[in-house]
Amino acid sequence: MAYKISEDCISCGACEAECPVSAISEGDGKYEINPDVCIECGACADTCPVGAPAQA
Ligand code: SF4
Ligand code: SF4
Repeated sequence: MAYKISEDCISCGACEAECPVSAISEGDGKYEINPDVCIECGACADTCPVGAPAQA
């Protein structure tokens, strides 16, 4: 199951740089993960300071 970024996201951008498949992009008010590209590695969750990415 792909990771999803919750409303807790503060748009710091840290996860975008860590994603090995460039599945993360800046969205409207928070960052977003393209579920068709995410390989569920968990790097974004490990990097996020507020724990926003989680498996849906
Ligand atoms: Fe990218 Fe891995 Fe996060 Fe999926 S789980 S969005 S592949 S960093
Ligand atoms: Fe949002 Fe966390 Fe990604 Fe920063 S690292 S952009 S707070 S999901």
